[in-house]
Amino acid sequence: MQFPEAQRIKNLPPYLFARIERLIEQKKEEGVDIISLGIGDPDLPTPGHIVEEMAREIRNPANHQYPSSAGLPEYRQAVAGWYRRRFGVELDPRAEVVALIGSKDGLAHLPWCCLDPGDTVLVPDPGYPVYAGSSILAGAVPYYVRLKPEKGFLPDFADIPVETAKKAKLMFLNYPNNPTGAVAGESFFAEAIAFAKEFEILLAHDAAYAEVAFDGYRPPSFLQVPGAKEAGIEFGSLSKTFNMTGWRIGWAAGHAGAVEALGRLKSNVDSGQFNAVQKAAIAGLTGPLDNLNEVNEIYRQRRDILVDGLNSLGWRLEKPKATFYIWAPVPAGYTSASFAETLLEKAGVVITPGTGYGAAGEGYFRLSLTVPTGRLKEAIERIKRNVGQVNF
Ligand SMILES: *Cc1c(COP(=O)(O)O)cnc(C)c1O
Repeated sequence: MQFPEAQRIKNLPPYLFARIERLIEQKKEEGVDIISLGIGDPDLPTPGHIVEEMAREIRNPANHQYPSSAGLPEYRQAVAGWYRRRFGVELDPRAEVVALIGSKDGLAHLPWCCLDPGDTVLVPDPGYPVYAGSSILAGAVPYYVRLKPEKGFLPDFADIPVETAKKAKLMFLNYPNNPTGAVAGESFFAEAIAFAKEFEILLAHDAAYAEVAFDGYRPPSFLQVPGAKEAGIEFGSLSKTFNMTGWRIGWAAGHAGAVEALGRLKSNVDSGQFNAVQKAAIAGLTGPLDNLNEVNEIYRQRRDILVDGLNSLGWRLEKPKATFYIWAPVPAGYTSASFAETLLEKAGVVITPGTGYGAAGEGYFRLSLTVPTGRLKEAIERIKRNVGQVNF
């Protein structure tokens, strides 16, 4: 029997990396030493005090039972405490915080809570593919809002036709931004809130990189802006903050109606995150933060090596203030895909073609700083030797 594939699965955008992944496999089989700057996953370990707390909690049989799908009260309290400590924001842990199995859990389920089939959702382009994917699965129709370099990769609300804004129910935002490394200030969030209020749109701000920042810059929380809790929710995660991508723990906080709906949906889909993981996460959120500064200093050094290295070859990149990504234009005569293939062929270096993040990513590629400095220097050296100076 043929698999009875649902229309909503057929509607998902095609997977763009199949060809480049075949090429990578082929190179590996040939014994080529591949340097991957394509992966957005921290290479550094989870801080020791979090690992120790996990080791203790995993031995406690009380943690072995089903968790509650909305999260332990003390975990939600720790999230509220984090917002007070980092951003001076007050949250009601019961009504305004829900635990998530990684923020992706909430980003992927929110559209099911507020979008009916045929509804319009505003999705940044380029953007994290989950926003469009989950919206399409819920039967909604994405309207792609282009993030333009001349606007600092912030959406220009004036670009959104009034008729579209009137139909839209949800808008995704993400700062510090993956893939562009762009940041947003409080004034931008205030503008977004005014727009959302005018057209009755729920804002979903993805703050996965809120703590990955350099040179003294501290990204604001969406929730510290007046009116934010009435206009939307923020997604937070321990994944990038504490090098815990594999642990699967995050939260949504803010708008009480959205938090309640997400919790209700999750009670029908999953049974929450392992209590031991939640308790380890509490140790992270309430514990010392020296590790965070040390990790950011390592990313900063890597960023400088990579940006200075590329600029010596003819790029004119600015150093991102946040995230562990460099978003760079491809040289003249290349598409995103052809440049990625060329770097792989000639230098054994893997990059992510910008088109993986939407049509507006054409003409760009993304580099990830999750690689030790020695390998970054080697990658630059190989590009210099085998690709040379570039023009735009
Ligand atoms: C890594 C990442 C996340 C985090 O996902 P988790 O499910 O919390 O691990 C969310 N949004 C963006 C844009 C990311 O890059």
